[in-house]
Amino acid sequence: MSKPIVAIVGRPNVGKSTLFNQIGKRRVSIVDDMPGVTRDRIYMDAEWLNHTFTMIDTGGIEFDESDQILRSMRQQAKIAMEEADVIVFVVDGRVGLTSADEEVGHMLRSAKKPVVLAINKIDSPQLEANIYEFYNLGLGDPIGISASNALGLGDLLDAVVESFPKNDYEEKEEDEISIAVIGRPNVGKSSIVNALIGEERVIVSDVAGTTRDAIDTHFVSDGNKFMLIDTAGMRRKGKIDEAVERYSVMRSLRAVDRADVVLMVINAFEGITEQDKKIAGYAHESGKGVVIIVNKWDIFPDKDDKSTLRFTEDLRDELGFLQYAPVLYTSALTHQRIPRIVELVKYVADQQSMRIQTSVLNELIRDAVSVNPPPSHRGKQLKIYFMTQADIRPPKFIVFVNDPELMHFSYLRFLENRLRESFGFEGTPLKLIVRGRK
Ligand code: GDP
Ligand code: GDP
Repeated sequence: MSKPIVAIVGRPNVGKSTLFNQIGKRRVSIVDDMPGVTRDRIYMDAEWLNHTFTMIDTGGIEFDESDQILRSMRQQAKIAMEEADVIVFVVDGRVGLTSADEEVGHMLRSAKKPVVLAINKIDSPQLEANIYEFYNLGLGDPIGISASNALGLGDLLDAVVESFPKNDYEEKEEDEISIAVIGRPNVGKSSIVNALIGEERVIVSDVAGTTRDAIDTHFVSDGNKFMLIDTAGMRRKGKIDEAVERYSVMRSLRAVDRADVVLMVINAFEGITEQDKKIAGYAHESGKGVVIIVNKWDIFPDKDDKSTLRFTEDLRDELGFLQYAPVLYTSALTHQRIPRIVELVKYVADQQSMRIQTSVLNELIRDAVSVNPPPSHRGKQLKIYFMTQADIRPPKFIVFVNDPELMHFSYLRFLENRLRESFGFEGTPLKLIVRGRK
């Protein structure tokens, strides 16, 4: 099921990123802490009352520097109105209502999305009277909060969670593999989708079943069922503002959420961009399979038999944590290797579902420990008792040790590499969890 998306909008300095960080504070895990994954994040998963949602700080989306504040606020609001399930509009209760607030408030009133109005910097009860003038925005009851002191956040989150849409996506079929196609504009996403659909037998297409006009396309290939997520979003071009399209990380995040396997499309000329990496980082953290498609390979100049090898090497240098993703060189124009895409997706989905027996894992641990003894700290050495696989999609392993404090990140990385050398796990992230045993 897809996680709801909550967008935080508001003028600079009202406290958006403080709020964002407060709400997301409690979530830490080993995989999330991998270097290179979490820097400068603008999205974060958060939890409240058994609801998990993805939060986006639209203030962190990079706009052209030449943009005026009001202009970028309008853009933020537009993106939020287009993509989010709930919008949290943050204003500054000390500064009071400004004309920029009014302007954005006016836009948000016309949104068909629920808006929760947060009056920030209400640090003490004496300041509570400041919230009343914000009723003028016509966005319902203002909620006084203090992001830096973590006051009122419970009430705010209650209001957010209450506004979540109920069950708006059709469930996908059990044995169906869902695919999200992501990448910057013009890399060839729509062309690839059209080529894929053209090659395969489409079962149901363009059935608008939801309020959000997300249209998924189901097809069967070689006896396997697949679903392409939000095909309409890709085809809807022209209707959406270019800027909205350009910064539309939210649609991508939502698609990634619903996917088993993510097709990360780049083109042969520009390679991978920062925005691509952020979304790839999200896919990685969410445990999704990833296949990298280098499209427009037909017009890549001066190709020889080493071109893909060289390109892949450069790409691997760029990719950091995504080393496990297979790379495919395609042309949506000539259909070169387009049929390979579904084969690879199926392959990666199988890799994600692979289960390794505990006895086999323990053999691996014995070997690993003998070639590379575990680290020690202050005379105490890490002992690994055993490892067992707890889950699939993504594969999750629990490593039982004498003292988790002694486990070093680089040693976990080493164990992960051993797992990959022995079993493949191509295209899928692995989760390794360390547990102490007294
Ligand atoms: P953003 O630009 O909207 O993301 O705002 P920031 O989160 O960067 O905050 C701007 C400034 O407001 C910083 O100096 C924060 O420390 C301050 N700030 C944020 N929340 C509060 C609050 O609840 N009370 C007070 N007094 N200051 C706050
Ligand atoms: P999207 O914005 O990522 O969905 O990209 P489109 O599928 O709309 O493609 C953008 C442009 O690139 C269009 O003019 C396509 O015809 C062209 N294009 C897409 N794939 C290829 C390809 O593999 N080779 C070449 N030469 N052109 C392509």
